Amino acid sequence: MRIAIYPGSFDPPTNGHIDIIGRARQVFDRVVVAVLRNPRKDPMFSVAARLEMLEEAIGEDEGVQVVAFDGLLVDAAREHEAHAIIRGLRAISDFEHEFQMALMNRQLDDQVETLFMVPHAAYTYLSSSLIKEVAGLGGSVSDLVPAGVELRLREHHGK
Ligand code: ADP
Repeated sequence: MRIAIYPGSFDPPTNGHIDIIGRARQVFDRVVVAVLRNPRKDPMFSVAARLEMLEEAIGEDEGVQVVAFDGLLVDAAREHEAHAIIRGLRAISDFEHEFQMALMNRQLDDQVETLFMVPHAAYTYLSSSLIKEVAGLGGSVSDLVPAGVELRLREHHGK
């Protein structure tokens, strides 16, 4: 069974993330979407809320599992028997950091391969932080995030 882990903050999930999950599913039997518990990043949404938003957006698919993790990604990969780490690449600006992370993860565990996937062109400019900024200023993000995410963003801003 081919298993991949797709880690991230997903604070909140966007259509770009969901697009990558769908593409990864074309290649892997199981995709473990791993939500980072990262208190340093001071997230807008709790881990529980992020898990819920992802589950809602993914819908019924036994091949996708949504989990939370902390600590080293390679340890989470091992725990879930994943042989690949999926990362999304939007633009050249993502590259340097992703390249460093991929090589560091290989240094830590050379049994896990990092694979980069490219989203639909419509989502290449999307990031969770930009979504939060636009939603916070009252702009519409309805074409850019799953419906449940839009609702929670509105609730967060009391609208
Ligand atoms: P992180 O804090 O790990 O960067 P994110 O939730 O921002 O977590 O992103 C998780 C993964 O999804 C990363 O590989 C990131 O490059 C990718 N990603 C984020 N937004 C998009 C998008 N719009 N299209 C494709 N991949 C994306």
